[in-house]
Amino acid sequence: MSVNSLRQKSPLPTTLGGQLKRQSPRYTVGFLLLGTYQYAQYWFDTRLSRAIDAATHDNAALASRLGAALIGVAVLSLALRVLSRMAIFNAGRVAEYELRSALLDQLQRLGPAFYRRMPIGDIMSRATNDLGQVRMLLGFGILNCANTVFGLASALAVTLHISVKLTAAALATLPLLMAVMFVFARMMFSQQRENQEAIGAMSAAVQSSIAGVRVVRSFALEEEEARRFALTNATYLDKSLRLARVRGLMFPVMQMITAFSAVIVLWYGGKLMLAEEISPGDFLAFFRALRRLTWPLIALGMVSSLVQRGRASFLRLAEVFSARPDITDGPLPMPSVVRGQLSVRGLSFGYGEQRVLQDVSFDLEPGSLVAIVGKTGSGKSTLAALLPRLQPTPRGSVFLDGQDVCDLPLHAVRGNIGYAQQTAFLFSTTVGRNIAYCLDDRDGDKAMLAVRAAAAAAQIGDEIAFLPDGFNTIVGERGVQLSGGQKQRVALARALLSEPRVLVLDDPLSAVDARTERAILDVIERERARRSVLLITHRVAAAARCDSILVLDHGRIVERGTHAELLERGGLYADFAEEQRVESELEALGVEAPVPSPEVVTA
Ligand code: ADP
Repeated sequence: MSVNSLRQKSPLPTTLGGQLKRQSPRYTVGFLLLGTYQYAQYWFDTRLSRAIDAATHDNAALASRLGAALIGVAVLSLALRVLSRMAIFNAGRVAEYELRSALLDQLQRLGPAFYRRMPIGDIMSRATNDLGQVRMLLGFGILNCANTVFGLASALAVTLHISVKLTAAALATLPLLMAVMFVFARMMFSQQRENQEAIGAMSAAVQSSIAGVRVVRSFALEEEEARRFALTNATYLDKSLRLARVRGLMFPVMQMITAFSAVIVLWYGGKLMLAEEISPGDFLAFFRALRRLTWPLIALGMVSSLVQRGRASFLRLAEVFSARPDITDGPLPMPSVVRGQLSVRGLSFGYGEQRVLQDVSFDLEPGSLVAIVGKTGSGKSTLAALLPRLQPTPRGSVFLDGQDVCDLPLHAVRGNIGYAQQTAFLFSTTVGRNIAYCLDDRDGDKAMLAVRAAAAAAQIGDEIAFLPDGFNTIVGERGVQLSGGQKQRVALARALLSEPRVLVLDDPLSAVDARTERAILDVIERERARRSVLLITHRVAAAARCDSILVLDHGRIVERGTHAELLERGGLYADFAEEQRVESELEALGVEAPVPSPEVVTA
C-alpha cells in the first residue's frame, strides 16, 4: 500500500480493538499463510518418518520420491514462513504509522491546557517508545500468539500420532518450563520498565544539558554537569546490566529444561523403538516435532510480557487521544469578506487561579495603528494571544467585524488575525521557507517574489542576501543561527506575507537597533493602509507613532489616548517616557541606566 493511499483514510481508529479490526485483512492473510506453513510442517514430519523407514527397508525408489517431495515442501515452507511474517509484521507497522498520524493530528488540535499538563519530553516518549511497544504487540505479539496455536496443533498432531505415551513423557517437563518462563517474563517486564525509565531520565538530562550548553559554559560548570550526567548514565548502565543478566540467564535455563526433555525422549523413545512400538523414522520425526513444540511455548512467555507492555503503552496513548481540545471551531461558516474591525469587550482572563487580565475593552478600527504599553508581566502577551484564540478566549469578549471569535471557524480567526510572537520560532529549514510558511507552495517562483517583498518590508532582505546561500540558507537548530533581532524580523516578514486583516505584533522591536526600528515602524505605518495593526512595544518612541495608546497595568487598561494626551496627563505613561528619556541621555553620555526600562505595548 502506498503512503499516500494510507494518508487519505480518515478518521483513523485509535483504540486497540479498532486497530485490530482495521488490520484484520492483513491478519487474515497472515493467519492463512501461517496455518498453511504449520500444516506443511506436519506434512514434512510425517513424510520424513516414512522416507526414513523406506530407506531403512531398502525401498530406495519410495525414499527418493519422498525425499524430492520433502525438498519441495521445505522450499515452500520457507516462502510461507517469510510471507506470513511479512503480512503480520506489516499489520503492526501500518497500525503504528496510522496511530502516529492520528497522534500528530490530535496533538495539533489540543490546546494550551493539555500542554501545561503534559511535558514535551513525556509526549515525545509516547510518540516514540510507546508506539514502538504497540507495534511489537500488534506485529510480533500477534504473530507469536497465532504461531503458538498453529504450531502446537501441528506438532501435537505428529507426536500424538506417533505415540501418546512418548508425547506425555516429553511434556513431563512442561509445567516446569511454563513456571520458569512466567517467572522470567515477570522479571523481564519489571526490569524493562526500570530500564525504560532510566533511558527517559538520561534523554531528559542530555536534552537539558545540550539546550542549556551556553549557560553551563558561562558559569564554567561543565565538570559539575558531567558529574551529574555520569550519575544518570551509571543508573542506566546498572539497569541495562540487570536486564542483560535476566536475559542472559533466561535462555540457558530454558535450554537446560528442554534438553532434559530431550534426554527423556531419547531414553524412553529408544526403549519404545527397541520394543518396535515405534519405527526409527517415527523416532526422528518425533524429535523434530518436539523441537517445533518447544519454541512456541517459550515464545508464549515473551508474548505475555509484550502484551502487558503493549497494553500499558496503549493506555498512555489513550490519555492523549481522549484529551479534549480546549479551543475548538465555532459553529458559523467562514465569513466571505473580513474588514478587520476588532472589538474587545470586558475581557477578563487568568491562568488557573492567577488573574492576568481584568475587564479589558478597546476597539481596533480597520486601518488604525494602536499601541499597548505596560510593564513586564502586565498581561500584554496574554492579551495578544487571546485575540486569535491561541489561548481559550472567553465567549463574548473578542469580536471580529461584530462576530464573536468563539463562533467563527478557527481557520477564519487565525487567518485574519495574524500574530507575530516576541520570541520568534524558526523551523529548521531555509529562511525562504520560513517566511513562506503560510503558503501552499513554498518553493515556487511566485512564492519567492512574495518572500523577497516581505523580507524587504521587514528590513531583513539585505541581511539575508549576505547569508551563505541567501534565501536558501538553512536556519534554526541545524543551520545558521540568526541573532534575536534577525529572527524577529524573519517572523515579522512571515506575518506580513500571510496578509491578515488584523496584525498583532508582540514587541517586534525589542532586539533591533534604533535605525532598524525606525525603518520597521515606517513599514508598519504603511501596512496600516491595508490592515489594522496592534503593536505591543516597550519603546515610547514607537508608541508615539501610533494613533492611540493603551497602557496596561496589572491586567487593567489604566490609561488610553494619544502620545501627547498621555504625556500631558502625567500618569504611568508619562513616567515611562521620562524614564526612557533619562536612559537614552545617560546612554549618550556612556553611563549605565540606573533603573530597568519599563515595557510599552502598542496596539
Ligand atoms: P507581559 O507580556 O506583559 O510580560 P504576560 O502576558 O506574558 O505579560 O504575563 C502576564 C502574567 O501571566 C505573568 O504573571 C505570567 O507569569 C503569567 N503567564 C503568562 N503566560 C502564562 C502561561 N502560559 N501559563 C501560566 N501563566 C502565564
